[in-house]
Amino acid sequence: MRTSKQTQQKLPVMQRESQEFGQVLSSMCTEPHPRAAEAAQQFLSSNPGDPTTYPAVAELETEVIATLGELTGLDSPEGYVASGGTEANLQAVRAARNLAESDTPNVVAPESVHFSFQKAADVLDVELRVFEVGDDRRADPADALRLADEDTALVVGVAGTTEYGRVDPIPKLADVAREVDSLLHVDAAWGGFVLPFTDWEWNFDHAAIDTMAIDPHKMGQAPVPAGGFLARDEAILDALAVDTPYLESTKQATLTGTRSGAGVAGAHAALEAQWPEGYRENYERGQANADWLADELVSQGYDVVDPVLPLVAADIPHETVEALQDQGWRVSPTGSGELRVVCMPHVTREMLEQFVADVDDL
Ligand SMILES: *Cc1c(COP(=O)(O)O)cnc(C)c1O
Repeated sequence: MRTSKQTQQKLPVMQRESQEFGQVLSSMCTEPHPRAAEAAQQFLSSNPGDPTTYPAVAELETEVIATLGELTGLDSPEGYVASGGTEANLQAVRAARNLAESDTPNVVAPESVHFSFQKAADVLDVELRVFEVGDDRRADPADALRLADEDTALVVGVAGTTEYGRVDPIPKLADVAREVDSLLHVDAAWGGFVLPFTDWEWNFDHAAIDTMAIDPHKMGQAPVPAGGFLARDEAILDALAVDTPYLESTKQATLTGTRSGAGVAGAHAALEAQWPEGYRENYERGQANADWLADELVSQGYDVVDPVLPLVAADIPHETVEALQDQGWRVSPTGSGELRVVCMPHVTREMLEQFVADVDDL
């Protein structure tokens, strides 16, 4: 049943309906794992931003970072549970800027980077140098090298791009970073929870990566907000730390002050329940669904970008997308207009069958 905006505004919040996921196809959020939702509730009022006053949630956070290290091939990871990929990316740029010797530092990244890098560049007053990607939609290290110079503080690669699920050649980008003596950041905000089950080279063990973004609140099935900022060396966190005179703890490397204990506890429970087998199943189901959907859309005559990860982009006309939205499908286009379906854990084959039938009818 649909309720009009006016009636909705008068209803107390507990009687409002939150988003159902039955027709959500383009979002990178999903339903949290039930145990994660419960754990989040339990730690609602804890503040991991002040670990001395709130030691229980601080301990959970240390364990989350250790497990994220396991996922990303890093033995003794540094880092913290951030508000999301945006904050993790911004912090990577901030650390690189603070550690750079140049007064006019720049960041070199492919055009496929998430828009959060524009925010980071703006807030931190750093130049963002973006190079085009080729037909394969991946960064060409030669292009990165052409843009990089002695002022380059950070080279960025994406492991699972937001629009097409592409994985940049991370080890080669690490060579570029070494050549210009900059840091290397990998944005695996979305891809980090599926890539461990693939053959892609993307993690700390595969290349000289300095920092990484990996979001438990996307493929990790943790409740929002739970992002991950990881660093190989403590020096990175030191470059971010400020003194905190009126807290029990004396230093803080995070961007936000008070943080969500629910996010930390939710991420912990999600990892405990799912890593690695639950995530492997999510990946295998998501990838099979993406491959199936791509085949169906091709057989209906649409151009489809080959889904190398569980994400399908198809050239479906704008009017068809609008008609699908009118039918309740929550779908959105890429920058160049393709329809994008992200095969998140809540996206079932039945949903996709109905979707494909609706596309066919239009
Ligand atoms: C979603 C996403 C982000 C931003 O993460 P938020 O949690 O929305 O702040 C950054 N990078 C990539 C590749 C993403 O897919």
